[in-house]
Amino acid sequence: MSRIYNFSPGPAMLPEAVLTQAKEEMLDWQGSGMSVMEMSHRGKEFMSIATKTEADLRTLMAIPENYRVLFLQGGASSQFAMVPLNLTAQHDKADYFNTGAWSKKAVAEASRYCKVNVVWSGEEAKFTGAPDAGGYQLDPEAAYVHYTPNETIGGVEFPAIPDSGDVPLVADMSSTILSRPIDVSRYGIIYAGAQKNIGPAGLTVVIIRDELLSGPRDSAPAMFKYCTHAENDSMYNTPPTYGMYLAGLVFEWLLKKGGLAAMGEINERKAARLYSAIDNSGFYQNPVEIRSRSWMNVPFTLADPGLDTVFLEQATSQGLVTLKGHRSVGGMRASIYNAMPEEGVDSLINFMHEFEKAHG
Ligand SMILES: *Cc1c(COP(=O)(O)O)cnc(C)c1O
Repeated sequence: MSRIYNFSPGPAMLPEAVLTQAKEEMLDWQGSGMSVMEMSHRGKEFMSIATKTEADLRTLMAIPENYRVLFLQGGASSQFAMVPLNLTAQHDKADYFNTGAWSKKAVAEASRYCKVNVVWSGEEAKFTGAPDAGGYQLDPEAAYVHYTPNETIGGVEFPAIPDSGDVPLVADMSSTILSRPIDVSRYGIIYAGAQKNIGPAGLTVVIIRDELLSGPRDSAPAMFKYCTHAENDSMYNTPPTYGMYLAGLVFEWLLKKGGLAAMGEINERKAARLYSAIDNSGFYQNPVEIRSRSWMNVPFTLADPGLDTVFLEQATSQGLVTLKGHRSVGGMRASIYNAMPEEGVDSLINFMHEFEKAHG
């Protein structure tokens, strides 16, 4: 068996050690005689998995006591509706930053439920940047402020956490959660689909300050009220049990690797090496302004787009796969989440050098 380096934006690579453990435990989880997939979510075996998964995430992210952790389904895309349904019963307006494709979707969905005020947009500049602290005016009466710390498609990251004052800050962290330490206390709600940096698709993690649990719109479906899930420890209905188990294995793996501070150093180094290979070539280009460059998703174009297909074919034949950029940006995109080893990034850089020598 040989594992490839998969630069997919999501679902993305998982640590090999995690997959190996899941394989070993597939038929018989720790002497229970059954797979985690077959367990009752209310049985003592799965309850112990759920408890440890949450506890390890709390340790990793240093989540304060006044925050709840919810394990949901529906993807980050459901959160685009769930956030306004839960936070705008009193104040019917919210501030949104528009820094890329995912922000736009969040804006469109929220606009169905409340008045959305776009406080900063990178659209005219083709989503190649994010605002500095203070480069925008926030409404102190807004129900919340929403932003996307890392735009997965454009490879654009906020250089600083927006200062929302007393207004709750809501972040779609799907493609940046766990990439480095973050100060959870700055946020009202953090949400993330799991399939980038947490685990398999099908699990959505929500971290929410407890005062934001009360007061969803009455008309919201029970499944779309945070309080429903908080009151039932994410077991109002059947949670994505196998996804939670795998996420738990990823959390254990991260803790063993030294936690998020250690991951942050590795991720910064991986990104710096790749961007410097791009910048030091006359052949590859990244369009994003330097201070807003993503550590996780690195888009780049070739000097001659006519070579894109050859580049992708040759990369694939060397075990470097899923490098095709999103259709809205073109070119290539290398997603280098936690599970992408440094050697994978080095292999990509070597391949890029060789390709430039042959074709540049
Ligand atoms: C992938 C992604 C989404 C969509 O996630 P789903 O879980 O597929 O709904 C939303 N926001 C960001 C930033 C993403 O990277």
